[in-house]
Amino acid sequence: MLQQTQVKTVLPRYKAWFQSFPNIQQLATAPLDDVLKAWEGLGYYRRARFIHATAQQIIDKHQGIFPEQFEDMLNLPGIGKSTAGAIASFCFNTNTPVLDGNVKRVLKRWHKQPQASDRQLWNLAQTAINASQNPAIWNQSMMELGATLCQARSAKCVACPVSKHCKSAFSNIEEQASNKKKTPVKDVFWQINIHTHPEKGLWLEQRPENGIWAGLWTPPMIELTQKPKTSPCHIHLLTHRRLHLYSKKVTSSPPSNGKWVKDISMLALPTGIHHLLAKQDPNFL
Ligand code: SF4
Repeated sequence: MLQQTQVKTVLPRYKAWFQSFPNIQQLATAPLDDVLKAWEGLGYYRRARFIHATAQQIIDKHQGIFPEQFEDMLNLPGIGKSTAGAIASFCFNTNTPVLDGNVKRVLKRWHKQPQASDRQLWNLAQTAINASQNPAIWNQSMMELGATLCQARSAKCVACPVSKHCKSAFSNIEEQASNKKKTPVKDVFWQINIHTHPEKGLWLEQRPENGIWAGLWTPPMIELTQKPKTSPCHIHLLTHRRLHLYSKKVTSSPPSNGKWVKDISMLALPTGIHHLLAKQDPNFL
């Protein structure tokens, strides 16, 4: 949950998650729709799919017990080298480094190598953790340092416990950060067709397995090639896309690949669609 999402957002959801899925067995056997529903609002739904698939793999291949070997962790869906490094060091105290965005930044500054490749950073991270007394605490400290003192836009070197060893301490980091190019955000325009029925409710379709909002439920959506002249009903921001959503009430029969839903709280809908429906008619929620 903490990949790409802040701790304060995750904490209440983390507790609720374990109420829904108290153990690996229950998670593995739950329908994917229930898993996506429990994840609703956290974004980056691929993570929910990966957790679900990982639970199934642990039941199928590891007798329901999370594997202790780093290599086995790497074979689990959604667990890359850095996440496996974190799990292995925190749970089994192995010398396996974490290399998330925060740690990369700290290492680049510490060694004054702003252009260091991932390969070079992995080597630096491995050398450092090999020399540490406690890999779990080392990894957590590096992550915390990047999240709190050595942030992308500011470095509080005066409060930093490693400033004596850091080759970039007290350099003009704010200026360097502001010169960094941002990835452009692409504008996308979607017409959202709202089919309603007095008894049956709202017509929803499940999004394809890949792409934006994969596997979530939405009213039929049509991507528009041109920006409409009217204002959108709602604008939803994703990491690299700005979705302009235009709702349209449709009286014709809905397409065949979907279903009428009386109570939309039973399914996982994207936050952007929730906002659009609330603006359309608060009774939808
Ligand atoms: S001294 Fe400054 S630049 Fe170096 S790690 Fe600490 S906060 Fe970051």
